[in-house]
Amino acid sequence: MLTRGQRLLVATHNPGKLREFEYLLEPHGIAVVGAAELGLPEPEETGDSFHANARLKARAASDATGLPALADDSGIAVAGLDGAPGIHSARWAGPERDFDLAIAKVLDALRTRYGSFAAADKAAAFIAVLCLSLPDGQDRFYEGRSDGTLVEHPRGARGFGYDPIFVPEGHARTFAEMTAAEKHAISHRRRALDAFLADLASG
Ligand code: IMP
Repeated sequence: MLTRGQRLLVATHNPGKLREFEYLLEPHGIAVVGAAELGLPEPEETGDSFHANARLKARAASDATGLPALADDSGIAVAGLDGAPGIHSARWAGPERDFDLAIAKVLDALRTRYGSFAAADKAAAFIAVLCLSLPDGQDRFYEGRSDGTLVEHPRGARGFGYDPIFVPEGHARTFAEMTAAEKHAISHRRRALDAFLADLASG
């Protein structure tokens, strides 16, 4: 499916995500190249699910290059907001990708719905779906999830996106307060990648 030493195209234009994939795949001898590096356009995410969007990105990248391409679609699903922002997690940050704004929107939406943050259902989960699109037309999917709780006051300067308000289950610190190693021992992306690596190992 993918041989050791073969280049894997990671179909993302998000430098934060590309760094995370490099960090997670490098120990497995998988050399990663990013979509921006190859000058690929960024397809519009018109799907109505994490799976559909991951497939759309991976398939476009593989078709354009003839390389195996891996794409993820991810986001945070907040229980008290019926799973929002979900597949629209990036969009809530606006055209400037302003995650202070996105975080404020999530917290405001919870306050509006429940009257106060204290009264809100604060359960949330990061979800990542990976799609590996192969040049022969095959698409394979892998899913990972990290459950946790939202906090009202953002904490920490590491990570990206909604990390400063997400405390994973069984921990006291937010993802943004953890080192990359700590976050990725338990992250949704790590779990999805573990499923991907297990599939590779099985041949
Ligand atoms: P997409 O997968 O590129 O469509 O965007 C996913 C969005 O979900 C990101 O822009 C972030 O807002 C959010 N997200 C996904 N994974 C993480 C994470 O590990 N930490 C914080 N935010 C994340």
